[in-house]
Amino acid sequence: MRLDKLLANSGFGSRKEVKALLKQGAVSVGGEVARDPKLHVDPAVDGVTVYGDPVHYREFIYIMMNKPPGVVSATEDNRDRTVIDLLPHEYRRFEPFPAGRLDKDTEGLLLITNDGKLAHELLSPKRHVDKIYFARVSGEVTEADREAFAAGVELDDGYITQPAVLNILSAGPVSEIELTITEGKFHQVKRMFEARGKRVVFLKRLAMGPLPLDPGLAPGDWRELTGEELEQLK
Ligand code: URA
Repeated sequence: MRLDKLLANSGFGSRKEVKALLKQGAVSVGGEVARDPKLHVDPAVDGVTVYGDPVHYREFIYIMMNKPPGVVSATEDNRDRTVIDLLPHEYRRFEPFPAGRLDKDTEGLLLITNDGKLAHELLSPKRHVDKIYFARVSGEVTEADREAFAAGVELDDGYITQPAVLNILSAGPVSEIELTITEGKFHQVKRMFEARGKRVVFLKRLAMGPLPLDPGLAPGDWRELTGEELEQLK
């Protein structure tokens, strides 16, 4: 890749600022001062330094966020704050996007990345990646609901859901449940309960495939995935 792109992507400023660094003779490639922004370098091999410090180039970022309510899972929005707005500005250069959506009022685990291939694999309906949700549901959730979800329920558009595992944590006028689904249809959890005549009043995603939400993350908090978590996801 071009040297100016490598430096800009590594946090050394805009292309213009990077050009100024190059002009000053601050940048070396393989021990030689490099001044040409168009020079082609292989970040893994060529030993690029700025003021003598090695440049650690990263192409991809992987962020786990505990999405708070009231924020939209999008990169831009005219009206509402987005999950990307919650990240520090320096992450913008990676062009991150949420891998899958949570509704504006839904909380919990959201993966934010710029790795389109991984996002596609996690979201592909063919992969059947488990998504685990905690919900509070208005109305008494029953054994009949559990059986219906295990068999598949018909949504408002006629779609029959794949088998889902409903774990009733407490049943009453407002019930608490955990639901594991392997697909991600629009408003799926809410619509599944609607199909049973019940209403989700609180929804939080607890896990996606092998990745549980870090319980140390308060709503709105985020952190990068560890190498181990990333290995498990891939
Ligand atoms: N199902 C929903 O209904 N909403 C979400 O945000 C996620 C799953």
